[in-house]
Amino acid sequence: MMEVRAKKALGQHFLTDLKIAESIVSSLRLPGCGEKYISEGEDWPSQTLEIGPGMGVLSQYLLRKPEADLKMIEIDNESVAYLLSHFPEADGRVIYGDFLKMDLDSLFPGQFNVIGNFPYNISSQIFFRILDCRGRIPQVVCMIQKEVAERIAEKPGSKTYGILSVLLQAWYDIEYLFTVGSGAFAPPPKVQSAVIRLKRNSRQDLGCDPSDFKFIVKTAFGQRRKTLRNSLKPLIASKASREGWDAERLAAFVSDPVFDLRPERLGVEDFVSLTNKFASRQ
Ligand code: SAH
Repeated sequence: MMEVRAKKALGQHFLTDLKIAESIVSSLRLPGCGEKYISEGEDWPSQTLEIGPGMGVLSQYLLRKPEADLKMIEIDNESVAYLLSHFPEADGRVIYGDFLKMDLDSLFPGQFNVIGNFPYNISSQIFFRILDCRGRIPQVVCMIQKEVAERIAEKPGSKTYGILSVLLQAWYDIEYLFTVGSGAFAPPPKVQSAVIRLKRNSRQDLGCDPSDFKFIVKTAFGQRRKTLRNSLKPLIASKASREGWDAERLAAFVSDPVFDLRPERLGVEDFVSLTNKFASRQ
């Protein structure tokens, strides 16, 4: 059977370097690997979801591992047909559809790992979905655009630190594993790539309302060159009117030095206290 012809709209850049494929797969922690996570005695799940298997360059190694129970979600019917005809073991493990629209709760009732060479055009949306499911996804190993990988792994203070850095770092420890040049793909992407690993940290409770937290982080970075006093002005105004503040009370609230900062200076804990400042009456 012919190879799958690469479709740009689906972010298809097929990895051709088998050594790299193998090291991506071996970066995934699986049951019995000796490394535990979160609490004593817990092990990594064997249930593993690969997003966008394409022609199966990663899947072939995952399917060989008895400690991994693999499912693949692939949007491209040509790739699905390729997988099923080349890998008999893939039978019953390929789900044809859009990862962004899948009901993950019914597909994966328990804990599961996520792995994949993500379609770069939707990598942020994939991460937002992973975050929505963070209670059941203890680990993610993925290849993404190098700039996005750096941004996600970046600490506060750097120019590229942004929304996804804060939201992901709140729940995951992030490791930048290695860089992959564009020559490892067919067709080669215009950008460099990188492999990162996300492991769920021990945080169970953010210490503030998670959806308010997300809203504040998004609003603050929506105008990242402004100080928080300016970017959060509408939120400050609505709190003031909701609580019937006079000018003096308002001045006292905005005199907090945190409002002099730009969002890239704030770590997760700083955003938590900022969110709590906006919570009702305190
Ligand atoms: N894992 C393969 C392919 C990577 S390219 C390799 O490393 O060679 C990205 C893959 O994601 C393609 O196969 C593409 O068809 C698939 N894809 C793109 N959008 C998707 C979506 N929304 N849901 C599931 N798969 C998707």
